[in-house]
Amino acid sequence: MKDIRIAIVGFGKIARDQHVPAIKAVPGIRLAAIASRNASLPGVPHFPTIDALLNHGPEIDAVALCTPPQVRHAQAVTALAARKHVMLEKPPGATVAEIAPLLATARENGRTLFATWHSRFAPAVEPLRRLLEGRQVSAVTITWKEDVKVWHPGQAWIFEAGGLGVFDPGINALSIITRVMPEPLFVTKAALDFPANRAAPIAAELDITDVTGLPIRASFDFRQTGPQSWDIHFETDKGPVTLSLGGARLADGGKVLVEEKEAEYPGLYQRFVELASEGICEVDLAPQQLVADAFMLGQRRVVEPFEE
Ligand code: NAP
Repeated sequence: MKDIRIAIVGFGKIARDQHVPAIKAVPGIRLAAIASRNASLPGVPHFPTIDALLNHGPEIDAVALCTPPQVRHAQAVTALAARKHVMLEKPPGATVAEIAPLLATARENGRTLFATWHSRFAPAVEPLRRLLEGRQVSAVTITWKEDVKVWHPGQAWIFEAGGLGVFDPGINALSIITRVMPEPLFVTKAALDFPANRAAPIAAELDITDVTGLPIRASFDFRQTGPQSWDIHFETDKGPVTLSLGGARLADGGKVLVEEKEAEYPGLYQRFVELASEGICEVDLAPQQLVADAFMLGQRRVVEPFEE
C-alpha cells in the first residue's frame, strides 16, 4: 500500500514537538506539506492557509489539524469536502455538537475522521485499564496541575472563549478516566475559577460519578509552580493504584508496573494509518462532554487577573 501523504495544518508547539517526529517514525505515512500562516519547515512545501494548500499544493490524502479548537471546525469541513482523511488534535472542537456533521460527511465520503486523545496512548494507560478490569474501584482522585506560563507561553487562544483554559490539559485526564472506567461518567458538581480579565477558567474542581455512585474528584489548576502534577489515584479492593507523569508511570501499591518515557504520538499515528487504510472513523466525545457539562453546571468564581 502507498504511504498516506499528510499535511499538517497549524504549525505551533504540538505540531513541531510531536507530530513531525511521529510522522517520521511511523511507517505508512509521510509529511507532504504544511499550512500555517506564519511558520514553515525547511524542505516541506508550505502554504499560508488550508484553502491555498488544497488549491495549489501537492496531492495529499490527509490533514492533521493542529490549530486551536476555535478554528478547527471550519478547516475540518474544508478538508472533508475535498475528500481528505482528517486527524483532529484534542479537544476535537470548540463545542460538542459541531463534531456530528463532520462525522456524517466523513462517513458519507468513506473518509476517516479521527478525534485523537493523545493521553490514551501514554504507555501506562492500557496496562491500567487491564489492571482495573480485575478490581473494584471505590474512589478516584485526579490531580492535574501545571504552570501555564511554562507549558503554554504566548498561547492567547487558551484563555479566549472556546480555548477551554485549564480544561485544555484537564481534558487529557478526562480522556484517560473515560477510557479506563467501565461505566459512562457524568459531572454532578463543578466550580470554575475565571481570572477577571480572561474568558476561560484558570482552575476547576469537578465531582464526577457513574451509575454505581463511584466518587471521582478532579482538581485542575494552571497556577502550579514547582513540581507539576499529572496524577490519577484509584482506591481499589486490592489496594491503591496510581497513574502518574500524565500516563507514563503506573504503580500498584508500592510496586511500579510501568515507567516509560512518554511516547504517545507514534501510537496515535499508527492508529491513524490503520483507520485511514480502511476509511473508518474513530470519534469518542465523552471527555469533551464532561468539560461541556462542567461549564453548564459549574459555579463560576472570579479570581485575580492573569498576566503572562
Ligand atoms: P500553538 O503553539 O499556539 O499552535 C497553534 C498553531 O495554530 C499556531 O502556531 C498557529 O500557526 C495556528 N493558529 C493559531 N490561531 C489560529 C487561527 N486563528 N487561525 C488559523 N490558525 C491559527 O498551540 P499548540 O500547543 O500547538 O496546540 C494546538 C492544539 O494542540 C490545541 O488544541 C492543544 O490542545 C493541542 N495539544 C497541545 C499540546 C501541547 O503540549 N502544547 C499537547 C497536545 C495537544 P500560524 O500562526 O502559523 O497559523
